[in-house]
Amino acid sequence: MREFAGRIRRGGFDLQRCAECGAFLWPPRDACASCWSERLLWAPVSAAGTAIAATALHAPLDAFFRAHAPWRIGSVRLDEGPVVYAHFSRDVVEGGAVRMEARIDFAGRAVLIALAPDGGRLEDDGDLVDLISQRGGDNERS
Ligand SMILES: [Zn+2]
Repeated sequence: MREFAGRIRRGGFDLQRCAECGAFLWPPRDACASCWSERLLWAPVSAAGTAIAATALHAPLDAFFRAHAPWRIGSVRLDEGPVVYAHFSRDVVEGGAVRMEARIDFAGRAVLIALAPDGGRLEDDGDLVDLISQRGGDNERS
């Protein structure tokens, strides 16, 4: 995950890819989940996918998400194959196409965010702006 976060900081959205069988891997691993090869590379992905399921957290344990509840999350099948969990913008619908962005959140964690492909920008969704803001974690933290 540390390597993934470093790639995000450099502006990329890359996933591990097996040099033996070509499978894309998520989350990052030490060996391919399909063929067990340890020859893994990092490769850029399209950042496109389909929202499989969406839900909302109404009583999250974390203070940041509780202050922003209900918080939308869901699963996405990337066009390259892996299923990932992501934060969902307001305009993402189940079964709909999404565009993924990889960012670093307020706590320094690598996170994936699903946006509607023709919808607004991440910067237009106040909750998501707070998520990736350096100060986002200060909300009701103290
Ligand atoms: Zn493989």
